[in-house]
Amino acid sequence: METLKGIQQNKMFINGKWVSALSNETFDVINPGTGEIIDSVPLGREGEAILAVDAADQAFQCWSEKTANERSSLLMNWFHLVLDHKEEIASILTAEQGKSITEARGEVDYAASFISWNAEEAKRIYGETIPASAQNKRIVVIKQPIGVVAAITPWNFPAAMFTRKIATALAAGCTAVIKPAESTPLTAIKLTELAHEAGIPAGVLNVVTGDPKTIGKAWLDDKRVKKITFTGSTPVGKYLMREAADSIKKVSLELGGHAPVIVFDDADIEKAVEGVISSKFRNSGQTCVCANRIYVQRGILPEFTEKLKNEVKKIKVGIGTDLDVNIGPLINEAGYLKVQRHVDDAVKKGAKIELGGKRMEQFQGGYFFEPTILSGVHEQMDIMNEETFGPVAPIIPFEDRNEAISQANNSDYGLAAYVYTESLSTAIKIAEKLEFGIVGINDGLPSTAQAPFGGVKQSGIGREGGRQGIEEFLENKYLSIRI
Ligand code: ADP
Repeated sequence: METLKGIQQNKMFINGKWVSALSNETFDVINPGTGEIIDSVPLGREGEAILAVDAADQAFQCWSEKTANERSSLLMNWFHLVLDHKEEIASILTAEQGKSITEARGEVDYAASFISWNAEEAKRIYGETIPASAQNKRIVVIKQPIGVVAAITPWNFPAAMFTRKIATALAAGCTAVIKPAESTPLTAIKLTELAHEAGIPAGVLNVVTGDPKTIGKAWLDDKRVKKITFTGSTPVGKYLMREAADSIKKVSLELGGHAPVIVFDDADIEKAVEGVISSKFRNSGQTCVCANRIYVQRGILPEFTEKLKNEVKKIKVGIGTDLDVNIGPLINEAGYLKVQRHVDDAVKKGAKIELGGKRMEQFQGGYFFEPTILSGVHEQMDIMNEETFGPVAPIIPFEDRNEAISQANNSDYGLAAYVYTESLSTAIKIAEKLEFGIVGINDGLPSTAQAPFGGVKQSGIGREGGRQGIEEFLENKYLSIRI
């Protein structure tokens, strides 16, 4: 089979070598826009997962002893190579994930920003000195890398979630094993090629493609793995956390979201519509910070709905490689079936379809869904209680601030929330009351490398990015010195 343009390898990367599965088995990678097989990669299992940990464990001492400047400059090499290969990475992303080429280019920039940010952060792993309680004592706190890190990444941002975890771990002085999502391993392989070319030594970064259950279990059971960092669904996150307990591994979990958007009647409606569109429809609604519940104050409901409809009608859905396409397909059949179930359930329980509502049959092979707006939505509908992961915007009216806060907080999820108002006082009061890790105030795109990304409640534990991100990969060691 011909390998996708831009990728030299379609293998796993363990201890600085490109390898096949021990069984020589492979699995196919499908283009979700066309249904075509674009490549195949090794079907790794427990054996390969353990080999990867062997390599990461061996490499740890040497990597962790490098100076921060040395690690930083290797990461900066990687950063420049990623940007130099932006078009190739973007086309791989579009082919295996489906997102439009414009979104894919944006993701490559975003992915690269985590590398440069963490290359800088590596140099700022500051310890502490603390006044002691006796004259003959000194207290010093040093920060050290936690050890071998196992990372498991999702398919919705195959480049950015890879670098957000790996660049941070490596900057901290940790070595890593990573399993990319089954649907999108090729982006991870390309990024690894570039990390290798950048001079990151053998064993520091190891990639295992294949069966999630056996690879995950091997890493959970291995005492040499000191931390699991995961982005994905809440049920898998809960499983990893439970299993990590046996050897008391640290965990960072970035799980599902069910983001509310609260649009007050004093909001700049154009700005709110623009924010909802970028938050809701980006990546075809397949992000964990997607607007999932759009609460609109009663007085502006008709105007807001009309304006949103007019703008959503302009979204062009199609095969990601077509240059004028804004959004691509859903990732697979299961993704489509969930979105359709949410729409059907809402309609059965009284919602009105303002726009869209069904699969776009003109695209053979892919699961394309019409950008959809629902009105008359209420809390008994599935769409209000589960993450949709699709381009469906449910609109719910509210009367006053207290109602908006209590409805928005009425969820087990707590990742991102959005507020639209021109009143500074309302914005701050609401933001402080919202039980979410991220609040966008008149801003539908809050994610950025220099801010701590993460959720509360069942949306996760730990933060990625910002000053806080690297802390997740460090241990504090306290030196009690008697002089
Ligand atoms: P989704 O349902 O959106 O695919 P998942 O949480 O299933 O989300 O997937 C996110 C990542 O978790 C993927 O890399 C997937 O392979 C991995 N994964 C799924 N199940 C397990 C498991 N039992 N153990 C380890 N990793 C898993």
